[in-house]
Order: sequence, then C-alpha cells, then structure tokens
Amino acid sequence: MLESLVVGAGFAGAVCARQLAKKGHRVRVIDRRTHIGGNAFDEFDAHGVLVHRYGPHIFHTNSKRIFEFLSDFTNWRYYEHRVLASVQNQLLPIPINRTTLNRLYNLNLDESGVLDFLEKVRLPRNPLRNSEDVVLSSVGAELCDLFFSNYTLKQWGVPLRDLSAGVASRIPTRSGDDDRYFTDSFQFMPGEGYARMFERILDHPNIVLELGTDFESVDRKNFGLVIFSGPIDAYFNFCFGRLPYRSLRFDHQHLEVEQFQSVGTVNFPNQHEYTRITEFKHLTGQRVSGTSIVYEYPMSEGEPYYPIPRPENEVLFKRYQELAKKESDVIFVGRLAQYRYYNMDQVVGAALAATDSL
Ligand code: FAD
Repeated sequence: MLESLVVGAGFAGAVCARQLAKKGHRVRVIDRRTHIGGNAFDEFDAHGVLVHRYGPHIFHTNSKRIFEFLSDFTNWRYYEHRVLASVQNQLLPIPINRTTLNRLYNLNLDESGVLDFLEKVRLPRNPLRNSEDVVLSSVGAELCDLFFSNYTLKQWGVPLRDLSAGVASRIPTRSGDDDRYFTDSFQFMPGEGYARMFERILDHPNIVLELGTDFESVDRKNFGLVIFSGPIDAYFNFCFGRLPYRSLRFDHQHLEVEQFQSVGTVNFPNQHEYTRITEFKHLTGQRVSGTSIVYEYPMSEGEPYYPIPRPENEVLFKRYQELAKKESDVIFVGRLAQYRYYNMDQVVGAALAATDSL
C-alpha cells in the first residue's frame, strides 16, 4: 500500500495521522511551518514563560470521546477561563451577567431582576438573520454598542449585521453570577502544553514527520490517500477566487511583574487597535517570576486565521466543496480546509469522523 500523506501538523492533521497509523497505514506528515501543533503551538519564550505563539488557546469540550482521545497524549490542568471587558472605565465580566449589569448601571438586581431588565431593553428580531439580530434580541441597542459593535468591527473588519447569526450565538447572556467564559463539561489545559501533546500524538512507528515542507513541493503520485488541512481555496489554486480570512498580528511582551491583570483575558471593545490582552500564566498555571502577555491586532492581510462566517463566503466555499468531492483519495479536514469557525475540539471531532469511516 502506498504511503498516505497528511498536509498540516495541527489538530486536524495530527489526529488523522495518528488514527491512520493505528489502522496500519504508513503516514507522512508535512507542514510548511517548522513546528508541529498548527495554530495551537506553544513554546517557552526567552524568559522561560510558556506562551501560545498564535494567541491564547483554551481547550473546552462537551464531548467525552474527544476528551478521552486526547487524554491518551496528555495529562490535564483544570482551568476555567474568565474574561473582563474594559467598558466605561470599568473591567466588567463578559459574557454579560448579573455583575456586569449591576456594576455598569449601579443597580442591585437579583436574577429575576436581571431577566426583567433584559426583557425591557431587548429588541426582539424574528427571524435572526445575522449577528446583529442575535445581539439586539438578547441585550438591546445600548449593551450591543458598548460590548459588541466595535469589537466585531475590529475583530472581523465587518459590522455585526454582516456576520452570520452563528458568530454572536456563541456568546450567551446570563442572569446569574457565573463569570466563566465557557460552560463546557470538560475545561482543561494540556498539563505540559500543546506542543508536548502533539509530540506524543505524532510519536508512532508508522508516522514520519517532515517540517518546513510545502504541499507544492511534494510529488502527489508517491502517495495514496491525502489528508489536506490547509486552505481549500489554495488547494484548487484559487480558481473561483480567494476565500476571505481574517488575520492577526500578535505582539508578545514580557514584564518583570508577578501579575499583569486579574484574569486570563481582558477585551477592549471600544479603545485601542488591539482587541484583547491575554496573560499566559493564568492559562497555564506556570509558577515563574515575571509574566508574559500578548496583544492581538486584527488584520485583513496575512496568515489566514479565521474563516469569515458570512453567507456569501459560504456560497463561495460550497463551490470549492463541490470540486473537493470530485477529488479521489483526498480528504479535506480542519478549520481552513472546511472553512469553518471551528474550535479545537470540533477539529478533533471532524478528524476522528473523517478517519472513522476509512
Ligand atoms: P491549523 O492549526 O491552522 O493547522 C493547519 C496546518 O497546516 C498549519 O500548521 C499550516 O502551516 C499547515 N499548512 C497549510 N497549508 C499547507 C501547505 N500547503 N503545505 C504544508 N502545510 C500546510 N480554539 C479553541 O478551541 N479554543 C481557543 O481558545 C481558541 N483560540 C484561538 C485563538 C486564535 C487567535 C486562533 C487563530 C484560533 C483559536 N482557536 C481556538 C481555534 C484553533 O486554533 C483551531 O480550531 C485549530 O487550531 C485548527 O486546527 P487545524 O488543524 O484545522 O488548523
């Protein structure tokens, strides 16, 4: 049997490679970057602090199967992510909860008071056609402006109304005091980091890893099955035009203080060009002197990080997907190959599903 080729050593590629290797395939994994882990890659910076090179990655899932699959390759550190938004000179919990409203408006609402408050301010929309409809329907115009409108414009480069409803639906509104960013049943960080976990996923006698190698430089004829986790439009030489992606510039900094901010991430909806600052020690639990933080500046050009969930982009993606269906022996998996705003666990799920059926 010809060797299988896996393009990309991120979650999609690494999980597929491992599953194929387990089934007895010989697998070659290539990545054009010089490291494994894709965008989840982490490393110790010059000051010995474990940082995520491509921005903060917090693992969370409701899938026992996905959690158990990854647990073969890492121990875990329990971590619940908390985010504050800098709004009107205060740091307020986001997702919006009882504390957010009481502190913003100097109120003392109980849970049913919060529900009454939201009922008064919300602007019901039916159907929910886009992200603006979703936010207005749940919190009304003022909270939408304070917390979401400008943040979205910065993050995505388009107004809320131009984004699919699914983007805003990811952020709930809460009547109680729960200030966790995620409520999934499994919320953990890999105990020794993501890169170490990927090393173990790819450590199998049937897997050969080649870093710094682009798919373009490989002779396809030497391989049987191909798993492709790069951008689907690039695979087809952009024949229908480019799928839009949002990029980011990461500004990593180190400070000689024990703690820079009180929670993992602080969002800046209405000030600055950056969207948020993350302090890694909160995420990793590392005990080390000094601290490292990262500022995220959204960009329209650069490395493709986020597929932009808009209806017209979905139409363009569907055209590429039709071509993909006709490619024999190629499976397209992952955030860029499936043009989905997937979290890490969803990519693991997609990779397991793709290889289960082989
Ligand atoms: P990638 O990680 O992008 O891996 C694809 C790999 O393919 C890359 O390494 C790339 O170099 C390689 N490649 C592409 N084209 C080629 C080619 N032609 N030849 C060779 N190699 C190629 N998810 C969460 O669950 N929680 C979070 O907190 C979270 N935070 C995020 C923060 C940021 C800033 C970003 C950008 C994403 C975040 N995500 C988060 C999403 C997460 O990064 C993705 O779901 C996941 O990493 C996608 O894995 P993947 O394998 O599909 O893609």
